[in-house]
Amino acid sequence: MKSLHVTTPGLAEVVETATPVPQPGEALLRVRFAGICGSDIQVLRGTQPFASYPRVPGHEFSAEIVEINGASEHFAPGDVVTGVPYFQDGSCYSCRRGLINACEHNETMGVHRDGAFQEHLTMPLDRLHRAEGVDPRDLAMVEPFSIGYHAVRRAEVAEGDRVLVIGAGAIGLLTMLSAITRGAQVWVADVVASRLELAVSMGARGAFDLTAQSISEAAGSATGGDGFDVVCEATGLPVSFTNAIEAAAYGARLVLIGNGTREVTFNQSVLIKKELDVYGSRNSREVFGTLIDLLERKVVDVSPLRTRIVPFTEAVSALETAAGGATEDLKVLIEFPAGS
Ligand SMILES: [Zn+2]
Repeated sequence: MKSLHVTTPGLAEVVETATPVPQPGEALLRVRFAGICGSDIQVLRGTQPFASYPRVPGHEFSAEIVEINGASEHFAPGDVVTGVPYFQDGSCYSCRRGLINACEHNETMGVHRDGAFQEHLTMPLDRLHRAEGVDPRDLAMVEPFSIGYHAVRRAEVAEGDRVLVIGAGAIGLLTMLSAITRGAQVWVADVVASRLELAVSMGARGAFDLTAQSISEAAGSATGGDGFDVVCEATGLPVSFTNAIEAAAYGARLVLIGNGTREVTFNQSVLIKKELDVYGSRNSREVFGTLIDLLERKVVDVSPLRTRIVPFTEAVSALETAAGGATEDLKVLIEFPAGS
């Protein structure tokens, strides 16, 4: 079978490898679609601190079950599935308290262990989620959707909350959709006009172009000066963190999703003055089933986010283009060849 390897930082290539053999309790999967995410780009650039090489990137995927080793009441060959890509050790203090998404020794597919940018892979059955009547292209976006959903659950977003999402990339827009499904009114801020238009078309109550107005003007106009009940930071940029504090109401919740790598300078007294609750949000936990249900019932439509689909034969150049940065694509999916 064919497999995309990042052999060393900067070098991605498709290589021929042996089709894996499922161990007892595992399924052999044929990958249908896999999404390119920021961490895959970091693996190629060599800026992902936890990656080792060579590495098969990819942790967002849909697949078809080819074969199961052992008996299963829940799964059968032909089922269309996605899988939870974060492998926890099950024994650290986080895991012992059920916080498996924040496992101290977490291994995410595509970063710490090989991922989905290959024709076949094996996975334990207990990590798989079947979907019926969901477009496999949408199913490949359940994992990034889960990042947004976990974040709004962390911040206890509820009916009637006025929520601001900073950053209208794929994760920001999936966070917006997550907050909307919980009954919130959601505004989105970004600096790219086309993404803001998309946010409004997907259900945002309003959008703020931060090249044209300040965050405090935006918060003032949307909330009558109150500030937002919840602010979700989905860029990882220092200025977005300080903007989030600025846009927050007194007593608001702030949830950090964007994986920032730069230092932020701010006066901590503002957290006290506004009595803010600040949440970190890492990976996701036990939400795949909820999100697949939303997709099956067509409560949400994630399809506008997949702005480009490339065949696996073009996956290397698609990954290189994404790593180059100069693209307005939101979610790029790699399509794998049909089963043989
Ligand atoms: Zn653990």
